[in-house]
Amino acid sequence: MPAVLGGGIGGLSAAYYLTRRYVNPVTVYESSNRLGGWIRSENHYDENFIFEAGPRTIRTKGPAASNTLELMEELNLNREIYPICDSHPAARNRMVYAKGQLCMLPNSLMGAFKTLPPFTKPLISALFHDLRAGSKIQKNNDESMYDFVHRRFGKEIADYAISPMICGICAGNAKEISVRFLMNDLFDWEQKYGGVIKGLLFRDKKKANKKQESGVLPKLAKDQNWSIYSIKGGLEMLPITLGGYLTNYSEIKLNSKCQNVSFHKDNTAEVRINGTNIPTDHVVSSLPAFKLAKAVELQHPDLADRLNKIQYVDVAVVNLQYRSPDLLEQEAFGFLVPPIENLPILGVIFDSCCFNMRGNTVLTCMMGGHWFEKLFGKNPTEKDILDVALKNVRDILGIEMQPKTSRVHILRKCIPQYTVGHKARVDGIRDYVKKHKLPLTLCGSAFDGVGVNDVILSSRIQVDQIVGSK
Ligand SMILES: Cc1cc2nc3c(=O)[nH]c(=O)nc-3n(C[C@H](O)[C@H](O)[C@H](O)COP(=O)(O)OP(=O)(O)OC[C@H]3O[C@@H](n4cnc5c(N)ncnc54)[C@H](O)[C@@H]3O)c2cc1C
Repeated sequence: MPAVLGGGIGGLSAAYYLTRRYVNPVTVYESSNRLGGWIRSENHYDENFIFEAGPRTIRTKGPAASNTLELMEELNLNREIYPICDSHPAARNRMVYAKGQLCMLPNSLMGAFKTLPPFTKPLISALFHDLRAGSKIQKNNDESMYDFVHRRFGKEIADYAISPMICGICAGNAKEISVRFLMNDLFDWEQKYGGVIKGLLFRDKKKANKKQESGVLPKLAKDQNWSIYSIKGGLEMLPITLGGYLTNYSEIKLNSKCQNVSFHKDNTAEVRINGTNIPTDHVVSSLPAFKLAKAVELQHPDLADRLNKIQYVDVAVVNLQYRSPDLLEQEAFGFLVPPIENLPILGVIFDSCCFNMRGNTVLTCMMGGHWFEKLFGKNPTEKDILDVALKNVRDILGIEMQPKTSRVHILRKCIPQYTVGHKARVDGIRDYVKKHKLPLTLCGSAFDGVGVNDVILSSRIQVDQIVGSK
């Protein structure tokens, strides 16, 4: 019976795909007293608003997104989806706070021809920059996102578009994050064709042809131009529904901490849960890399070393509810702060603009990430964090009112950082597992992408490989 470690979206989706492929039963071991991991929603039904402590929206474009929509459909969540279409202000309007003002990023072709702050040239000029820039073959087939964008599109794009975007996606420093994290194809085009635009023109178009959407939801999302979505009642409804489905086919053990994993010569394994050794024929780990490292370090210190090289950052999430519906001057998804501005926040999401929260303005302020300790020290109090969030909301958005409800979540080591060399590190980890013939499968956000879609798709691909090999 396979043992799945971790009951976040990675572990739950791995257990789901295992049971769908008739590997029954499966046992999921989760150390805390709930499912969902970082996905945590606090629903205030009486006042029509939701606070999300972790993720709040899921993307709809691309194969990983279609895979999640297929999963939603299989779980009968079709009617629960709360989509935001491409034409909605929360999909169209994204801002950065730079040079003392909120600046709308261009959202149309016309916008790309105008000079809009914080840029001093029209965005279209970045394309000419790419055409003029020579190409530079990277020795290790990787470089930082910042260096790549700086080289190809210029410093302004690197500072005011890409750096804040990386803060928004993984709370990371674009100067350290691998270009392959988000721009794999663009980087490969440059290396192969000598530039991004050249790659766009000369790449193999057949390979780039999009596959037809399968399933009702992916097709609906495409036909109705969904941009992002959540679930009615909050994103936590996804792990809750998955957990409900799984109880029919598997065992879910909460408050069950995995302390050690050991492997035997006969290709079986043993997991120590709360002090008891439990035999298993296969271990599927969705644990954060540093936690799996601790569990395998006695028997496989080299594997533990490799896992420990995947770094994580702390993020502070501050949810704010104001009992007034119209405190925001501009409807938008929110704004991000470029690190070059040296402000103590990563950005603010306008939750009540994304989703209807009747009678309320609801905001989420994200803070810390790569800069957490430098900004807040090792152990800031919740009050310290709340005060910084409120000051910045007041200074930038002009909201003087005190929030009626607020929550501060200090999320330790919550987002893995795919720093330069990440792909090679992950290949090295998986090669180690293969070479030592360990009955171990790795999924979760540490390896193949940090978004909810990436994590679910990774579980599916990794489970397919176990089932295929048996
Ligand atoms: C603040 C924040 C905002 C985000 N926003 C978005 C967003 O808007 N959209 C998006 O797509 N993605 C977003 N993400 C990313 C996404 O939420 C995560 O990548 C994803 O939820 C990770 O899932 P996981 O299962 O890999 O890990 P986790 O959620 O960390 O799950 C791992 C589970 O393992 C358990 N565990 C740990 N140690 C043990 C042990 N020894 N034994 C047993 N169990 C153990 C933990 O309790 C946890 O439940 C966000 C992440 C954060 C932190």
